[in-house]
Amino acid sequence: MRGPLRFGHPQQDVDTPRPTPKAKILLVEDHPTQAGELLAALERLGYASLWARSGAEGLVLAQSEAPDLTILDVVLGDIDGFAVCRWLKMRPETRDIPVIMLSVQGDVKDRVRGLHLGASDYLTKPCTDEELEAHIFAALRVQAAQSELRRRNSELEAMLHHVEAMAITDALTGLYNRRRFTDVLRNQFAVTKRYKNPLSCLLIDIDHFKSINDRHGHHAGDQVLQTVAQRLAADLREVDLAARYGGEEFAVLLPHTSKENAAVVAHRLLQVARTLEIEFDGTQLSVTVSIGVSSSTDLASDAQAEYLVRAADFALYRAKSEGRDRVVLFEPSMTPR
Ligand code: GH3
Ligand code: MG
Ligand code: MG
Ligand code: MG
Repeated sequence: MRGPLRFGHPQQDVDTPRPTPKAKILLVEDHPTQAGELLAALERLGYASLWARSGAEGLVLAQSEAPDLTILDVVLGDIDGFAVCRWLKMRPETRDIPVIMLSVQGDVKDRVRGLHLGASDYLTKPCTDEELEAHIFAALRVQAAQSELRRRNSELEAMLHHVEAMAITDALTGLYNRRRFTDVLRNQFAVTKRYKNPLSCLLIDIDHFKSINDRHGHHAGDQVLQTVAQRLAADLREVDLAARYGGEEFAVLLPHTSKENAAVVAHRLLQVARTLEIEFDGTQLSVTVSIGVSSSTDLASDAQAEYLVRAADFALYRAKSEGRDRVVLFEPSMTPR
């Protein structure tokens, strides 16, 4: 919120008008006598005031001084008050400053026009101190409520954004989680079926991970998971999707990628894992991984998206049983009969 004005909860303020100490008020009025009277009244009411003698000066001061409120005469020597109001409401820096239009007694058309242009209120001159104060207070209160609403809105938006991100992210590694992976898999699988381009999947499981936990503790295990995840993500293309699929298991979806090319990626990741240097508490830890590879071309035409992961899992199982630290491509003979 601009200026030294501080309102509490807007709902608490609704029924309890209080003086608004030191609000800075810009008066745009070309008539020296009328301006003098209003400035004196503002001073009596405890407001800090600024005086602009013309519309042009008003625009400059509104921008440079950031007043809490502008009182704007309709009839000015240079630009008329309505044009000034329109300008103030157009510029992002001055848009939120409430404007009270000053009109002469009885000119209803003028008042309505000002309100249409974004003025908060109008005052007829001459006016009493009480009138002036009530109008100023009402405009400032609305303004305070609005900026409080805006603040809460953006807070809520940020929170929502955060919650959405959390719902699809694995907290430990920052990769997508299994839920997100499954969603994207279904989506990509449908695209693949429709356009007949290949979709491949890798399941990557850290070898003997339990023994890292057992020997070096759970924190060391966590560190290994984070490092592997980081390198995995760094090594893939934008369009590839890496997710933490389970405890020490990662899934990678490779759109528009044949099984042959997926195997190339898998071998590269195998090598990346082998050369990872992970330091924990002064100890160098190293890992190997086993990788199962499957592709949409492995599946029957009526297969469901989940079968792609199952096929990769069969291949991964074979990689484990053949000694780990290797890549195995799915073959139909791996499915149990
Ligand atoms: P294999 O080579 O057959 O894959 O052996 P493994 O030890 O890697 O596999 P196993 O499934 O026996 O053990 C996986 C371990 O991963 C057990 C579990 O405690 C550990 N784990 C799962 N999630 C986490 C985690 O978030 N942090 C840590 N530190 N460990 C985890
Ligand atoms: Mg005038
Ligand atoms: Mg494992
Ligand atoms: Mg596992």
